Amino acid sequence: MSMLKITPIPAFDDNYIWLLHNETDAFVVDPGEALPVIDFLHKNSLKLNAILITHHHADHIGGVHQLLDYKNVTVYAPQYENYTFEHIAVGENAVVNLPEIALQFRVLWLPGHTLGHIAYYNNDYLFCGDTLFSAGCGRLFEGTPEQMLDSLNRLKQLNPATKLFCTHEYTAKNVAFALTLEPSNLALLNRQTEVQQLRQQQLPTLPCTIQLELATNPFLRCSQTEIWKNSHAENSQELSVFTAIRTLRNHY
Ligand code: ZN
Ligand code: FE
Repeated sequence: MSMLKITPIPAFDDNYIWLLHNETDAFVVDPGEALPVIDFLHKNSLKLNAILITHHHADHIGGVHQLLDYKNVTVYAPQYENYTFEHIAVGENAVVNLPEIALQFRVLWLPGHTLGHIAYYNNDYLFCGDTLFSAGCGRLFEGTPEQMLDSLNRLKQLNPATKLFCTHEYTAKNVAFALTLEPSNLALLNRQTEVQQLRQQQLPTLPCTIQLELATNPFLRCSQTEIWKNSHAENSQELSVFTAIRTLRNHY
């Protein structure tokens, strides 16, 4: 029985390129750089089978052309975005099969960070790109606060045990910001301790889980009175609180 592993390959300052693999076969999500991926494949004698893309930003697709020169595999990418490489365009509810590692994902369309942003989901794993981070969410480069809030609210409905594979190591700063909104949230204080310990050992704070994010992530907790009060939003409506804390986080 081959064992699935999901390995973070660090890239740039704080990106993770997630590699899903067993002893022989691999799939890569958001390869912003090619060389660290090729290096890992070589060192572990792995065959690359396909590339999965969540959105069009350079730190997520920068390595695609070079990876395709290395091995001409299928690329899955969001249907509402344009790409210079050949790809299969996938949108809401599309199925992406990874037969070599016995996985299947469904696509969620989650506009907000970009308008075409997608995530890859099954009941155990969520590859959510720059939509949801641990204790944070992506910046609104293209979408409206309303679109992002809708997207995040969809993620709140997923199986709480779902593991979240976010693409940036932003957790320490996100937790520090979250504590300005909920200074006495015990789950958040515990998360801060855990994150400090992990980062001291230079270990990733990811994956996290939907359950942990529901308890700690202010962008999923906009209906909490304490967050509303500390956000200085005009009113307690979820959308105004979300908009206020997204703006506060931009300047934190
Ligand atoms: Zn991005
Ligand atoms: Fe990014």
